[in-house]
Amino acid sequence: MTKVNNAFEMVVSRIDAVCDRLKIKDAHRLRLGKCERELAVNFPVRMDDGTVQVFTGFRIQHNDTRGPAKGGIRYHPSVTLDETRALAALMTLKTAVVNIPYGGAKGAVVCNPKLMSQGELERLTRRYASEISVLIGPERDIPAPDIGTNPQVMAWIMDTYSMLKGYSVLGVVTGKPIGVGGSKGRFEATGRGCTVSAKLAAAHLGISLNRATVVVQGFGNVARSAAKLLAADGCRIIAISDSKGGTYNPKGLDLESLLNYKKQTGSVVGFADSESVTNTELLALPCDILVPAAIEDQIVKANAPDVKARIIVEGANAPTTPEASEILNDKGVFVVPDILANAGGVVVSYFEWVQGVQAFFWSEDEVNHQLQRVMDSAFGEVLEMSQREKVDMRDAAYMLAIKRIADAMEARGIFP
Ligand code: NAD
Repeated sequence: MTKVNNAFEMVVSRIDAVCDRLKIKDAHRLRLGKCERELAVNFPVRMDDGTVQVFTGFRIQHNDTRGPAKGGIRYHPSVTLDETRALAALMTLKTAVVNIPYGGAKGAVVCNPKLMSQGELERLTRRYASEISVLIGPERDIPAPDIGTNPQVMAWIMDTYSMLKGYSVLGVVTGKPIGVGGSKGRFEATGRGCTVSAKLAAAHLGISLNRATVVVQGFGNVARSAAKLLAADGCRIIAISDSKGGTYNPKGLDLESLLNYKKQTGSVVGFADSESVTNTELLALPCDILVPAAIEDQIVKANAPDVKARIIVEGANAPTTPEASEILNDKGVFVVPDILANAGGVVVSYFEWVQGVQAFFWSEDEVNHQLQRVMDSAFGEVLEMSQREKVDMRDAAYMLAIKRIADAMEARGIFP
């Protein structure tokens, strides 16, 4: 694979390598190397002190061959257009791996939600939603939460879009609060999907989950749910971190107390009866399963040789760089790649969209059962591809996804 430093080019370079292997027509490959639609917006927001600030946001649709574009909205101070493009492309691949009828998109606003009041966040969200309303819609492009956004933000987007239309449009976003068309099970869905992936990977390698040691990077939506559900399955969660650092106890952490401690102090660092570790140290701890569930580019060339986990379940998007991926493969680490491991969120988002469009809502058991079915099937197909083609799980997932997208492009044809 060609060496590149730009996040979108990095994804495209992997897509290209897989297209070569699968002998995908240039007409299809070239489309996957670009984003179909890109919107950049600069919009004013009145701050609490009366001043007006201008924020920059994006909405990128990478590809919608298999269905409406789908992807989260990120609020982060250092998010870029390039990163948003890369995340949109990963969504195209992710929806294809789990075989749900969507394409891929991503949105972002360059801002620091931690430093903004609820009022400022609401005004920013409503203005951004109105700016991108030319692209989004239940049949066109359906946003969801990502880093820095949550069900409340989704409710504001749904309300703003509905105001523009003059009637309630439940299907315009997913990840909404239950009271306005959210799905039961959506909040934990990404963590639940990671847990299913971890269980299937452990079963494949003959590792018992009972007392298996787990290290989780991050303590947000994905990380917390994954840690909670893996603990419920008998695993011992020995380390967890957030942006300020981590906490480690080889005997296992009490998650409930850790959550309370984080609520009181703002971080997991300094938690009682455990050792403080840096995020770099955390990734090198001996364990059976490592779940990087924070941000991208965490396992890189420099620290990949130190990873001691037997299984990595990529809860975050792009936590491992291509160079690090090769090192992990050489070490025999079994990696469940992001586009499979964290697909649980988009799968239940799809269920939420289906429920909203049909105005018929499912029980939590039904949602979890259907999620398990989709994840089991996708994991099985990726594993089968990996064994048949003698490639790692990441390449296998890309192959499965790209074959599905190229087949759809072929079936639709190019006109004129
Ligand atoms: P979140 O904002 O709820 O949590 C992010 C966590 O990462 C926080 O605990 C934060 O403290 C921690 N963090 C931030 N910078 C860090 C650093 N440098 N080192 C260690 N920890 C750091 O976000 P989330 O929704 O849990 O998303 C986490 C990852 O999962 C992202 O890559 C996101 O794209 C991906 N993802 C999320 C979903 C979803 O449904 N929320 C779905 C698929 C993928």
